[in-house]
Amino acid sequence: MSLPPVPTTRLAPSPTGALHLGNARTFLVNWAPARQQGWRVVLRIDDLDSPRVRAGADRQAIEMLRWLGLDWDGPIVYETKHVDHYENALRRLAEAGWLYPCRCTRSQIAAAALSAPHLDEHELRYPGTCRPPEPLRQKFPSVETGVAWRVRVPDREFQFHDQIAGPQAWNVQQLVGDFLVTNKQGAAAYQLAVVIDDWLQGVTEVVRGADLLGSTPRQLWLHELLGLAAPRHWHVPLLVGPDGQRLAKRHGGFRLEEYRVEGVPVERIVGLIAWWCGRSELEPLRLEDFVEGFSLSQLPREPIVFRPADHDWLLTGAATRG
Ligand code: GLU
Repeated sequence: MSLPPVPTTRLAPSPTGALHLGNARTFLVNWAPARQQGWRVVLRIDDLDSPRVRAGADRQAIEMLRWLGLDWDGPIVYETKHVDHYENALRRLAEAGWLYPCRCTRSQIAAAALSAPHLDEHELRYPGTCRPPEPLRQKFPSVETGVAWRVRVPDREFQFHDQIAGPQAWNVQQLVGDFLVTNKQGAAAYQLAVVIDDWLQGVTEVVRGADLLGSTPRQLWLHELLGLAAPRHWHVPLLVGPDGQRLAKRHGGFRLEEYRVEGVPVERIVGLIAWWCGRSELEPLRLEDFVEGFSLSQLPREPIVFRPADHDWLLTGAATRG
């Protein structure tokens, strides 16, 4: 009889820019239940997206995590060290007939997808132009350069339970179609990489922003095809600017590094995040106290707005609000 896996969560910063308060919130809501309940915490640097990766951003991210007071178990893992595993998985799926090469350009897909329903303006539904009528065993990687690979997706609902967002049913084929598992250089795309990374690291709890909820059924499909146990999911409401849009540079001063340089005590960052997590008082808070009072299942269900007053409070600690 095998023992059940040790519950394991992951901190997975992308070294593509400076970490901001939204990242800090995701890290804290991952880390606090883990430290409360004895889960394992692994740190993974998601450095696969090479055109966007910035030199030194990994080191800065690690420094910020330490500044927040977070720790992790075992060595820091870099996604780029997993490429052989991605290739193995892609080879297996291609040989089983689940993948096919796609030569379509984005503008061709856009033209075909205009009238069809899709997830949002960034996610065009792939109309299946290059899909062979029947599954065809393929050799991966292709000798042809410049082709991306897609996975066949059945036209059915994928059902799963999100620990925060509740029961979910998504028809991936209707929303995004057969999705990409590599880029045009044959390198693993995010959807595939994250499935393999989580499996390699024994991750059982995926706690992340609600913007990735729609990726989950795609990842579950890959779990199913590869015969891997799926983790549990906790999609936390996004942190947004006063305009209701996901927190971005235009909303101004929210980088952790800037607050640190300004001398903002880390207890204020933790206090603001605790307040966003449903604590009744906005006050500086020690990390230990945050962990003690934290409940993942009690998080507010609505997006959280980062207001200019929150920024001022971080800098001055002056205003008091309940
Ligand atoms: N590295 C990703 C991010 O920073 C997280 C991916 C995931 O949680 O699946 O957004």
